[in-house]
Amino acid sequence: MSTLTINDLHVSIEDKEILKGVNLTVKTGEVHAIMGPNGTGKSTLASALMGHPKYEVTQGSALLDDADLLELEVDERARAGLFLAMQYPQEVSGVTNSDFMRQALKAVSGKDVPLIKFIMDYERYASELKMREDLPHRYLNEGFSGGERKRNEILQLKTLKPKFAILDEIDSGLDIDALRIVGENVNDMVSPDFGCILITHYQRILDYIKPTHVHIMINGKIVLSGGSDLIEKIDQSGYEWVKEELGIDF
Ligand code: ADP
Ligand code: MG
Ligand code: MG
Repeated sequence: MSTLTINDLHVSIEDKEILKGVNLTVKTGEVHAIMGPNGTGKSTLASALMGHPKYEVTQGSALLDDADLLELEVDERARAGLFLAMQYPQEVSGVTNSDFMRQALKAVSGKDVPLIKFIMDYERYASELKMREDLPHRYLNEGFSGGERKRNEILQLKTLKPKFAILDEIDSGLDIDALRIVGENVNDMVSPDFGCILITHYQRILDYIKPTHVHIMINGKIVLSGGSDLIEKIDQSGYEWVKEELGIDF
């Protein structure tokens, strides 16, 4: 079992404080949904944990088991077992999906993966995600629809098998069928060796991926944590009631 421990994390972008003390502990086997209105710092949390240079950690800590993530470079964080599925996956022309994936797997695992095994796994995962058969030969995300990009992120996740994944709005741009496919594939990964943080502002992906914990982030802080009952409440009443419930203004 592994644990991701985020303690009093403060993060600034261009000297503006966005995260104002985030506390979160995630164990493998758990799924934590982080919900909240637009602009409250959800993607900032994801980017800061992955080590995006634009996001400056000014206070606090983030550990993956004993590893101090904040001391590690981006590639070292990936090798430590952290994966980020981005809200806006980029396209890279001239690099095929399968070449990209094989290189990434080699970099993260530190091992040369036998080509035959790689291809067999990759094609199986792609078919579980109902992706086009010519996927391995297409350039990375080039000409991909929003939904294809998101499924490609999950394909990377399935291939790399990290300890923890942060899935940032993996549900946006997905139609109902793609949502179910993505949801089921992520759900299947949850195990004693894998946990995830699911960032979303819709409840619909949570029909497929059942979170063990739900957190509401507002104005750079997790202001409320609970179980799936919170999802229903947000679905019915939005976030306004949180203010009243907590008696705070944000
Ligand atoms: P969320 O994911 O919850 O919608 P974000 O983390 O994307 O929120 O953004 C939080 C705040 O940080 C917003 O005010 C946003 O404008 C600002 N912000 C996020 N990323 C950047 C960036 N790269 N440069 C400047 N400001 C940013
Ligand atoms: Mg947003
Ligand atoms: Mg975001």
